[in-house]
Amino acid sequence: MGAFVALCLTTVTSLAVAYAGHRFDLAHIHLIGGIPVGALFIGGCAAIGTALAVRLFAIYDTSGMRVFAQFGGLMAYSGAVLLDYVAAHPNALLAPLTAQALESVKYLQTLVEQGSAAFARQLPGWVRLPVEVGFWVGGARLVIEIVGAIVATGWMLSMLTDVPFCWKNRRFYELRQLIESANMQAVREWEMAMNQRRPVEARAILARVRQGRVRPEDRRWVRIVVHQCPVCHASRLRIEGRRRGVGFARTETSQEITLDPVRGAALLAT
Ligand SMILES: [Zn+2]
Repeated sequence: MGAFVALCLTTVTSLAVAYAGHRFDLAHIHLIGGIPVGALFIGGCAAIGTALAVRLFAIYDTSGMRVFAQFGGLMAYSGAVLLDYVAAHPNALLAPLTAQALESVKYLQTLVEQGSAAFARQLPGWVRLPVEVGFWVGGARLVIEIVGAIVATGWMLSMLTDVPFCWKNRRFYELRQLIESANMQAVREWEMAMNQRRPVEARAILARVRQGRVRPEDRRWVRIVVHQCPVCHASRLRIEGRRRGVGFARTETSQEITLDPVRGAALLAT
């Protein structure tokens, strides 16, 4: 259910962003000839739909959602470029396939040339770029633009779904564990072991927490979400009481524990 809604919302936002991107020519806005500001904006906006679904259904930043969002970002970017292309060649879609393929290759070439021209403008007047170098620079800029759109989608998704950011290593935390357990007793013991910094016991209890699988007839259970910085191991744990309501599960209570790098590494090492 959640995944389906995420897919629908992602598609809708991506299409809307693709249209806006085409209207305002976003795919080709750059700073200093290289930084794809417009593409970053397209990617960022494309993540909104997925983030909304993640929030609505509390699915969190699982890797599946990230793939959805990034696919949406790619779709929004390529949609904008495609609309630009169709606007420039109104009859392109009616032409025979071979002619269409030829036209799109030519269009791609134009984009690459625009990129190299923009780069050349940043250089002092006496520097002349050989054509081959210009071609590679233009191609690299196009790739940076596409990658930029996808990266911006991931960043925006992390930001909107409340994933912590590590300022020291300048990266978002990664989802390390997402455990749903009906064994409330074990969860309480685990929490206590975490708070009293007994890592060995905490790890042993966590195995029991994992075993308490949530069955369809369970009305209440606990979800533990662990986000961790992949470099310094600072972490945030979120412990949520979940309850099956009418339709879908709701979060009743939640608390957060933040761990500094040393505690995070010791307590969450597996
Ligand atoms: Zn860090």
